[in-house]
Amino acid sequence: MNTRGFIFDIKKYSINDGPGIRTTIFFKGCPLKCWWCHNPESQNKLPEEFEGCTFRWNLSYDPGQKNTIGTEVFSHDVMKEIEKDIPFYEESKGGVTFSGGEPMMQMDFLFELLTKSKKKDIRTAVDTTGFTDYQNFERIYELTDLFLYDLKLMNNEEHLLYTGVPNKIIHENLILLSEKGNKIILRIPVIPKITDTNENLDLMINFISELKNVREIDLLPFHKTAESKYEKMGKENKVVQLEPPTNEQMNNIKYRLSSLGHTVKIGG
Ligand code: SF4
Repeated sequence: MNTRGFIFDIKKYSINDGPGIRTTIFFKGCPLKCWWCHNPESQNKLPEEFEGCTFRWNLSYDPGQKNTIGTEVFSHDVMKEIEKDIPFYEESKGGVTFSGGEPMMQMDFLFELLTKSKKKDIRTAVDTTGFTDYQNFERIYELTDLFLYDLKLMNNEEHLLYTGVPNKIIHENLILLSEKGNKIILRIPVIPKITDTNENLDLMINFISELKNVREIDLLPFHKTAESKYEKMGKENKVVQLEPPTNEQMNNIKYRLSSLGHTVKIGG
């Protein structure tokens, strides 16, 4: 099979998307619309055109496409890029990470890339919003070494307001996945005044304490590097007033979450 899918970037030598040195494939399409999204170009499933975009990667590079972000690619071509870095994975215990957007929005494409990666003995990770049918987790479970699972807001109304979707299915899937095995790194975006409130952190600590298996918790601080993307894309930036959390604030949150007994890291 040589399935096609839409991606918007391939990042080489990444050290923030799972253990070791990794190649990260960014899928296009996300069911969420988080106010703080650092990759607003991921949200639409199809390629988008806008003036002056920073063109990062395109297998079929063509100067005429310089204002297009996202491209349709064959799994075979993506695998070629992944396999180029096998020596780095071996040395660092790294591998490939499928991120987005939400990779499970393109299930057949994801399934095929995971299958092909496993055939080459490449370690795999899937970075997920959790907003998908649990059957999708079951379909890729054996092919996935690690799930980087986002946990954002425990209050459903707030989750709906700030991400555009309810949180019930995300939390239910996380409970089921944690019962299945020890493959989860939780990723918590620390967004000042939104996800870092005492109430949200307390609810989160209670919820995580009930999960059967969590390998690690990563705290991802809000940053402002996406501002220019919003400007170039003509998209509304709803958190333009927010400032990144200070080191002290991040360390305080780390300290609170450390009470759970899991390894807690700042950054991915
Ligand atoms: S889940 Fe991630 S990619 Fe999707 S909108 Fe939220 S921050 Fe952006």
